[in-house]
Amino acid sequence: MSNEPYQLDTLAVRAGHQRTHELEHSEPIFATSSYVYTSAAQAAARFSGEEPGNIYSRFTNPTVRNFEERLAALEGAERCVATSSGMAAIMTTCYSLLQQGDHIISSRAIFGATTILFNNFVAKFGVDISYVDLTDYAGWEAAITPKTKFIFIETPSNPLTEIVDIERLAAIAHAKDVLLIVDNCFCTPALQKPIALGADIVIHSATKYIDGQGRCIGGAVLGTEEIIGQAVYGFLRTAGPSMSPFNAWVFLKGLETLRIRMQAHSASALLLAQWLTEQTVVEKVNYPGLPSHPQHELAKRQQSDFGGVLSFVVKGGKEAAWKLIDSTRLLSITANLGDTKSTITHPATTTHGRLSDEQRQAAGIEDGLVRIAVGLEDILDIKNDLAAGLNLD
Ligand SMILES: *Cc1c(COP(=O)(O)O)cnc(C)c1O
Repeated sequence: MSNEPYQLDTLAVRAGHQRTHELEHSEPIFATSSYVYTSAAQAAARFSGEEPGNIYSRFTNPTVRNFEERLAALEGAERCVATSSGMAAIMTTCYSLLQQGDHIISSRAIFGATTILFNNFVAKFGVDISYVDLTDYAGWEAAITPKTKFIFIETPSNPLTEIVDIERLAAIAHAKDVLLIVDNCFCTPALQKPIALGADIVIHSATKYIDGQGRCIGGAVLGTEEIIGQAVYGFLRTAGPSMSPFNAWVFLKGLETLRIRMQAHSASALLLAQWLTEQTVVEKVNYPGLPSHPQHELAKRQQSDFGGVLSFVVKGGKEAAWKLIDSTRLLSITANLGDTKSTITHPATTTHGRLSDEQRQAAGIEDGLVRIAVGLEDILDIKNDLAAGLNLD
């Protein structure tokens, strides 16, 4: 299918599927590790790269390719490489682009495992890492050195939902020949398209909203043919952090409903955020959809909706936060997000528990902070579940 004349919702349902001779309507799962050739000459042509086609499912599988082409169409990327997890997508990107002596810059508030990957594993190979606060534009500019290879960000940030102007940061990076990488896990292409705003590479944990129902682990790296088709694919086909065909199929079907799910998550999150601001025990609510959010205007411009994750501070610190969390009967107490089921977590003692008190304060993770990833349950039931712990009953 040619992608050119179609809108996002159509691409989400149709892009990437090459119907086989069986004329199936839904996409098939190719559960095969290898492929056969019609002759020794064809096998030789495939291996030498003279003839395109399937070779081995570590790096060529029709179901995985179907997922890659569909996600690439949604992100507006020339090329996508699917990986076994979101972390594998970040590791693959680092291995593909970096060498000893290079320098990278990351925003301070990113997914915990990404920080550990940078500090404990990427650093081991002689790569320097600096951290900058997401919205500190002067800080980004100042941190770039002649050795800087890329800037890595998440926007909105987790759990405080701070937002950076991708276009502005891309201009700062490109002025010094630095690549901008955006982990687009929170928004997905349904709400935000970083490549159109100037980002060079988009990273996904497909585990979250792309699956959307908490079933499979997977990831993806997207960008130009030159970077993704050559460097990133070159590493993946040799090193093998590949996506399984079954998971690719689950994600592929997830993409078909991604936009309507993201709209529903966003609609409920906005209602919940507004309701939380009215509660006397709630000191502060962080959600880009609220006019009180410091980057509300930017969020309106940069995103087509505000997403499913919010956080808020309750009076009474950790004790009150834990009491609220433990009082819930419906919400799941887990740090995961991007599921149909709403989740509630206490960042200071879970996702950010390994930071020192000082680091936590610098990162703005207060003891009373609670994060909710709003699922697809009825918003009335979500509010009622929280109302008990907020002493409203
Ligand atoms: C979960 C997550 C990751 C890691 O993805 P996995 O699929 O768990 O490996 C990376 N970035 C963000 C923002 C995430 O939420």
